[in-house]
Amino acid sequence: MADSEVLVAGAGHNSLVTAAYLARAGFTVTVLEAEDRIGGDTATDELTIPGFLHDSCSTAHTLLQSSPTITGDELRLGDYGLEYIRPDPVVHIPLPDGSGITMWQDIEQTVAEFAKYSAADAATYRAMLDDYAAAAPGFTKWRYTPIGWGPSLDECLEDVPGGRRWRRIRQRAAADIVMENFEDWRSRAFMMWMALMTMQPPQRTGTGRLAYALAFGRQRHSWVVPKGGSGALPNALGSLIKDHGGTIVTGARVASLILEGGRCVGVRIDSGDEYRASRAVLSTIHIKHLIDMAPEEEWEESFTDGVAGWQAGISMCAAHYATTEAPTFDGGITPLASGTPTSAERVLRVAEDFKRGELALDDPVLLVLCPTVVDPTRAPDGQHTLKIVGVQPYELAAGTEKWDELMPSVARANFEHLGRYAPNITPDIVMAESLKSPLDLERMNAHNWHGSCHGGDMSPDQSGGLRPAPGWAEHRTPIEGLYQTGATTHPGGSVSAGPGRNAAIVMLRDLGSDISAAIAPEHPSTLEYR
Ligand SMILES: Cc1cc2nc3c(=O)[nH]c(=O)nc-3n(C[C@H](O)[C@H](O)[C@H](O)COP(=O)(O)OP(=O)(O)OC[C@H]3O[C@@H](n4cnc5c(N)ncnc54)[C@H](O)[C@@H]3O)c2cc1C
Repeated sequence: MADSEVLVAGAGHNSLVTAAYLARAGFTVTVLEAEDRIGGDTATDELTIPGFLHDSCSTAHTLLQSSPTITGDELRLGDYGLEYIRPDPVVHIPLPDGSGITMWQDIEQTVAEFAKYSAADAATYRAMLDDYAAAAPGFTKWRYTPIGWGPSLDECLEDVPGGRRWRRIRQRAAADIVMENFEDWRSRAFMMWMALMTMQPPQRTGTGRLAYALAFGRQRHSWVVPKGGSGALPNALGSLIKDHGGTIVTGARVASLILEGGRCVGVRIDSGDEYRASRAVLSTIHIKHLIDMAPEEEWEESFTDGVAGWQAGISMCAAHYATTEAPTFDGGITPLASGTPTSAERVLRVAEDFKRGELALDDPVLLVLCPTVVDPTRAPDGQHTLKIVGVQPYELAAGTEKWDELMPSVARANFEHLGRYAPNITPDIVMAESLKSPLDLERMNAHNWHGSCHGGDMSPDQSGGLRPAPGWAEHRTPIEGLYQTGATTHPGGSVSAGPGRNAAIVMLRDLGSDISAAIAPEHPSTLEYR
C-alpha cells in the first residue's frame, strides 16, 4: 500500500515549498529528511550553547521577498508563525583607511554615504538602482516560471521599459560594470563585495545583472531575516504540511529509488525501510547522489552527461559564536550585516584563489552577521549570535581532508580581521564557538555537494534551461514519476522558493490539477503560465 500520493525526498525550503503547494491542493504528502531536523540550508540550530539560535547556513531571505509565494501570500505562512524583520542599517562596509559605506533603508541616506567620496558615484548608485527597478519584473517573471512554461528571459525583458538593453548587460561581467561606472575605490569595493554575494565571480561573463541586482534587492527589502531564525521558514512550511494531513519523517536518509516498470514508485532509506507513493516522487537529493540511486540504464544519456559535467562553484566556511557583544564599528554603528571587501581588487582575487585551491588569509573577504541586534529572541538577554562567513575553496591544493586541521586557524584569522574594524571583537566576548569548514557544510547537508552553497555553480552553462542538465530543466527527470527541485534546478540557489514553486506548477499540472488549486483564493497568482 502507498504511504501517500506524493513522496518528497529531502526537506530543504524548496522541497517543502513544493510539498506545501501540493498539500494545499489536496494531495497527501510524506516528506523524508536525512537529518534530525528539517530545513537544510535554512535551518536554525543551537550550535554553541542551549538558547543561542544560530543560522547554520543562510540568514538573509532577501530574494524570497519578490517571490509570488510571499508577495501574493499564496501559502499564508504568517498563519504558521513566519514574520520578517527588516534591519536598518541594512549593511555596513568598513574600509581599511578608517572610512566606510553604510546602506540604509532610506535610499537618500545611502546615496549620501556614496556622496562622501564622490558626487558622481552617488548619482550612479541611484541611477543604477532606478535602472534595475524597471527591469526587475522581467527577471522575476522568468525566475518564477518553470523553464519552457512561459516566455524566455529575453522575451520577459522585452516587456519591460528598456528591456532590450538588458540582453547585453546580462552577458557582461559585473566587475567591468562596477569599475566603469564607479570612480572612487571605496564605492568600487562596496559594489564589488555586493556583486559577490551570490558567490559568483564578478569578473565572469554573464554576471552583469549582479552589479545591479544585489544592491537593488537589499536596498528595497533590507538584509531581511525571519524572526526566530532562518528555520522559521521551513518550520512554517512543515506546520502547514502537517496541518493539511501531510507527514514529515526526519532521520530518514534516502538510499535508493524503487522502480517498477521503469517508473519511480517509492524510495528505500538507509535502514532498509521502504516508502511508497501512488502518484509521484519529488527529489531534492543532489543530482550527483541521485544518479547513483537507480541503475545507469534508467537515466537518459543527456541527463547522465549533464550530471557528470556538473561544477560546484565557490564555497564558504562559517564560524558561529555565542558572544556577549555585537560588532560595533566606527561611529558606534552596530549593524546586523557587515562585510570586509578591503578593495574591489581583493574581492576579485577570490575567484583566482579558489581556482588554485589556495587558502587566502590576508585581508579575508568576509560577510558578518549578527541577527540578535534586531531579533533578541535568538539569544538570552543582551547576548548575541555572531556568524563570520569566509569564502574559501573546498578543494584545497593540499587535500580537502586538510580542512579539519586548518579550520581553526582560518576562523582565527577571520575573527582577528573583523576585530581590526570592530575593536570590541576580541576573544573575551566569545562564550562558545562552532566552526564549519566547506567540508563540514557538506557533512551537515549532503546537498552542499563539494561545499557548494547553491547545489552547484550558477554559471551561465548551469543556468536556465541548462540547470541541472540540458533538456531536463522542467523538473521532470528521465525516470517517469520522478521529479526534481532544489538549488540544482531553475532558478538555482539562495532562499528564493523559486525551484520549489516552479516544481509545484509542473507537478500539479501533471497530476491533473493546477497551482491555482493551492493558492489562497483571495490572493490569485499574478503570473500567467502556459
Ligand atoms: C554558509 C551558507 C550561507 C548561506 N547564506 C545565504 C543567505 O544568507 N541567503 C540566501 O538566500 N542563501 C544563502 N545560502 C544559500 C541557500 O541557503 C541555499 O541555496 C538554499 O537554502 C538551498 O535550498 P534547497 O531547498 O534547494 O536545498 P537545501 O536547503 O540544501 O536542502 C536539501 C535537503 O535535502 C536533504 N537531503 C539531501 N540528501 C538527502 C537524502 N539522500 N535523503 C534525504 N534527505 C536528503 C538535506 O539534508 C537537506 O535538508 C547560504 C548557503 C550556505 C552554505
